[in-house]
Amino acid sequence: MFKEARLNLTVWYLAIIMTLSASFSAVIYYGINSELRRIEHVQKIRLQRLVVTFPHLAEFVPQEVEAVAEARHKLLVTLGFINLSILILAGGGGYFLAGQTLDPIKRNMDEQKTFVSDASHELRTPITSIRTEIEVSLRDKNLNLSDAKKQLKSTLEDIIKMQSLANYLLELNKYDNKKLEMKKIDLKKVAEEAVGKRKLVKNFKSTFVKGNHEALVEMVSTLVDNALKFSPKDKKVIVNVSKKKIKVIDKGIGISREDLPHIFDRFYRSDKSRGTEGYGLGLSIAKSIAVAHGASISVKSQPGRGSEFTVSF
Ligand code: ADP
Repeated sequence: MFKEARLNLTVWYLAIIMTLSASFSAVIYYGINSELRRIEHVQKIRLQRLVVTFPHLAEFVPQEVEAVAEARHKLLVTLGFINLSILILAGGGGYFLAGQTLDPIKRNMDEQKTFVSDASHELRTPITSIRTEIEVSLRDKNLNLSDAKKQLKSTLEDIIKMQSLANYLLELNKYDNKKLEMKKIDLKKVAEEAVGKRKLVKNFKSTFVKGNHEALVEMVSTLVDNALKFSPKDKKVIVNVSKKKIKVIDKGIGISREDLPHIFDRFYRSDKSRGTEGYGLGLSIAKSIAVAHGASISVKSQPGRGSEFTVSF
């Protein structure tokens, strides 16, 4: 589909450039040719006069002005050559530019496709599990109330998982559209609300930015949740807030070099975190929130030593 669109776009670029080039050539040819005609006319009159004055030279006088005819021929060849060169250059350049124009659209579509297939995959697992459990229960003639309750409990767990995925998906769209209401807020208050009653080392200083309190609380909560989730219970998690920066530091499992460039991608989870809860969407939502605030989010990490996430406004 993109190959066809690229070719179509190239043809359009070419059509525009060649129409312009042909029009310019026609104007140039018309201008120079009328000048040549004038010269030709003057030359003919001179030659006729020469024949009248010296009749014995008549057989040596050419019928047409050869130099002018030659100049006209050369002009046509030159214009033809220029147009052919433009056609070749514009064809190549147009094809390249069409590729450049379509590339971001193609990348975006590829991302959307991957996203839809990842989301479907995540939904399929709990749906399959619910279906299997219900089918097995319905076939079981001796199913008693306690078994049925157990089954309902397990179904409920799967439904809660799907609900949380649906919420995540809605969140993703919410921040991507960047329709956040912004006002002057204190990052210290954001961090206090995000940390809540959790036991962490808090170094909070008031620092003001323009932002959306709820969205930023969600962003910091994600970073704090991850720091706790990926650290042993006895290791401290530190949250620093000052000078328009929020840092969340842990001494947990850390992130491998291979995973590091991907952790903000949608649905990305390192092999080590497969067993834990989560869809690999938290950080990608956190990044969308940071981007919607014109802030940057970065990470430093060493496997086995811990990670440090920084959001700078
Ligand atoms: P999840 O819901 O799986 O935690 P996230 O988008 O929040 O998804 O994180 C993506 C992945 O990045 C996690 O699965 C984990 O592998 C890695 N990660 C994020 N934060 C940390 C951290 N503080 N320490 C180690 N790994 C982390």
